[in-house]
Amino acid sequence: MTADPTAPAPAPIPTPTFADIVTARDLLATHLPPTPMWSYPALDAATGAEVHVKHENVQPVGAFKVRGGLTLLAGLDPTERARGLVTYSTGNHAQSIAYACAAFGVTGTVVMPAGANPAKVRAVRALGADVVLHGADMAGAQRRAERYADETGALLISPGDTPALVSGVGTAYLEICAARPDLDAIVVPVGSGTGAAAAVLVAAELAPNCRVIGVQSAAAPAAHDSWRAGTCVTRANTTVVDGLATGRGFALPQRLLRQGLADFLLVSDADIAVAQRLFATHAHTLAEGAGAAALAAVLTHPAEFAGRRIAVMCSGGNASPAEIAALGGRHE
Ligand SMILES: *Cc1c(COP(=O)(O)O)cnc(C)c1O
Repeated sequence: MTADPTAPAPAPIPTPTFADIVTARDLLATHLPPTPMWSYPALDAATGAEVHVKHENVQPVGAFKVRGGLTLLAGLDPTERARGLVTYSTGNHAQSIAYACAAFGVTGTVVMPAGANPAKVRAVRALGADVVLHGADMAGAQRRAERYADETGALLISPGDTPALVSGVGTAYLEICAARPDLDAIVVPVGSGTGAAAAVLVAAELAPNCRVIGVQSAAAPAAHDSWRAGTCVTRANTTVVDGLATGRGFALPQRLLRQGLADFLLVSDADIAVAQRLFATHAHTLAEGAGAAALAAVLTHPAEFAGRRIAVMCSGGNASPAEIAALGGRHE
């Protein structure tokens, strides 16, 4: 298909600002309490750093993304809400949109890859959204969601290139910087990059000396490689860590990451499994793989973090049945 040369260029995606994140915080105040951030002496001893764990695993859908979904729905006008929403996700964005649609009485449809974590599929359905299982990965699910939007008129929500999602998830970083304005670093797991992009916006305003460091699985490095290349690239996506399983860079978060991300680290899926076990044994915390990726980066880059005061984003707790079974592996 060739583009129609007379068609207007698509409007550029507006870049969210710090002020948008503050607005989102006020709006979310009636929906979600702030989440705790705790440190654990045993975890500090194991990492050699002063680690503050931001517990987004205790959110109502088990992940930080609910902040974005509620912010998005709150900002839609009645005609947009009447159209219903469709999106694509490996799971937590799906739960966030389903939760927010239920809160605002809006019809939500989520296309998830056919092999999605069954616990997440169950949770999305229980929240009342329609789930379509389609495609081998996020790219396949995206194509199906785009077709659904064309056929039904539903509003298509990109999990990465949607400003309200960045503003909403940014409220987690407002809480972190308010609780500990003296951090050396915030370590953030990256999939599409909305969380890390928001962290960059907040740190620039409230903690300019705090480095924001992104983390991806080496088995799905599209965001990392996009940041290093300075342009959005696609990459093989073979990670088993569903919260991080994206195969391409997203333009909006990448724009913000280029402005302010201090470093971007890669960890292996095996490193992530070790960090999940450490969360369980040293911090009584059930983290899903993506929720343990930031801790995995701290464990595998001791020189970068030794003696530092850092916030580690435990972004989610929706461990799959296989991940829970793997917690029974060898313990220190
Ligand atoms: C989505 C997700 C991530 C990645 O967040 P992005 O904003 O897409 O970069 C990390 N951890 C968990 C638990 C997630 O659900």
